[in-house]
Amino acid sequence: MMRLPEFSYLSPVSVGDAVKLMADHGPVAMLVAGGTDLYPNMKRRQFEPSVLVGLRGIRELRGVRGSSRTGLTIGAGTSLTAVSTHAEIVRHYPGLATAAGLVSSPQLRNMGTLGGNVCVDTRCNYYNQSYEWRKAVNFCMKKDGEICLVAPGSTRCWAVSSSDTAPMLWSLGAQVRLAGPAGERLIPIGTLYRDDGIEYLSKQPGEILTEIVLPPSDGWRSSYLKLRRRGSFDFPVLGVAVALRMEGETVREAAITLGAVASQPRPAPEAAGLLVGQRLTPDVIDAVAGAAFKPGKPLDNTDLTHPYRKKMIRVYVTRALQSFANGESPPADRPNHLAPAKSSPADRPNRLANGEAPPADRPNHLAHGQPAERQVEDK
Ligand SMILES: Cc1cc2nc3c(=O)[nH]c(=O)nc-3n(C[C@H](O)[C@H](O)[C@H](O)COP(=O)(O)OP(=O)(O)OC[C@H]3O[C@@H](n4cnc5c(N)ncnc54)[C@H](O)[C@@H]3O)c2cc1C
Ligand code: SF4
Repeated sequence: MMRLPEFSYLSPVSVGDAVKLMADHGPVAMLVAGGTDLYPNMKRRQFEPSVLVGLRGIRELRGVRGSSRTGLTIGAGTSLTAVSTHAEIVRHYPGLATAAGLVSSPQLRNMGTLGGNVCVDTRCNYYNQSYEWRKAVNFCMKKDGEICLVAPGSTRCWAVSSSDTAPMLWSLGAQVRLAGPAGERLIPIGTLYRDDGIEYLSKQPGEILTEIVLPPSDGWRSSYLKLRRRGSFDFPVLGVAVALRMEGETVREAAITLGAVASQPRPAPEAAGLLVGQRLTPDVIDAVAGAAFKPGKPLDNTDLTHPYRKKMIRVYVTRALQSFANGESPPADRPNHLAPAKSSPADRPNRLANGEAPPADRPNHLAHGQPAERQVEDK
């Protein structure tokens, strides 16, 4: 059984106190909200803070304020269950309610928060493993090691942004409020993310995400579709977040953002641009799905094969747009019986024990530090 290491838990009751505690303790401290991602990571020694600043006692971080007419402000400490069932969100920002409702399992959604989901760590088959597993493959640069095991010649980490709500919030034009020692700032959610598997957030470690601010819904419709192996719970291996503002049957504005295809959510502006001024005819949908397929560059470091995940971008964008055209709720999360099987990463230490080549030696994309995306053609 994996156990938590020792740490001190501090429990501020205001954002100001939490900011001060983070500043006082510096790099040994981390923030914890629901703890549904952070505690498992601590058990695997991916995070080793000696101080945790808990956000659960801070009342001002919880709740939803405003209206769809003026815009909604969601406290970062609001649970995912509350977000997914909030009447105004379900009615006017349905893609967000769907995305929040598809995160992990009911128990984890009761504990997990929207802020924690926006800030959740990036993932990789070679990183989300026990300490012993990682040690057996000599670690990687995201924690304790020197090189990337997905692309050993690479100077960066390619771990995957795996938040369900982040791409949807990006498509909805959300902003996030951050509080830190230098005061508060409100930034577009897109600028919170960096295309780097290790430094995946642009905020300072001591800055606290306090609020997620949604613009007025103003005729926007939204939907989120998630590809994962198990329908009960699993991280996304592809998320498709679409927001459209329609006038009658004509699209006036559009945003498409892909999740789980890069180290940050990946917008598809070219594809979205093809929708503007158009009706959702089969030809238009086909052209948009083809264009959305291009910016998605899944790598060979999550569940399911990356060529399959790449192909599914086209399929999921088509499904999302068809559902808008038909005026239906899209099928958010179809079981994926047809997905090609891939060996579980948990098998890999056994391969080492059996004297087989470790994953770092696999020939596919590793020799030249080329991420596996290069193997997937854009067609
Ligand atoms: C079995 C399992 C399945 C999961 N499946 C999914 C899934 O399908 N989709 C998905 O998106 N996630 C999934 N998760 C991850 C996790 O449950 C969610 O991302 C959850 O929303 C995290 O929220 P939290 O409040 O528990 O965050 P925590 O675990 O408390 O924190 C996560 C990270 O965010 C930081 N943080 C938290 N709050 C703030 C804040 N207000 N300001 C700044 N930094 C902050 C923490 O320091 C930490 O780095 C899964 C986890 C498990 C264990
Ligand atoms: S992408 Fe490379 S460096 Fe990043 S977690 Fe995976 S193996 Fe490690």
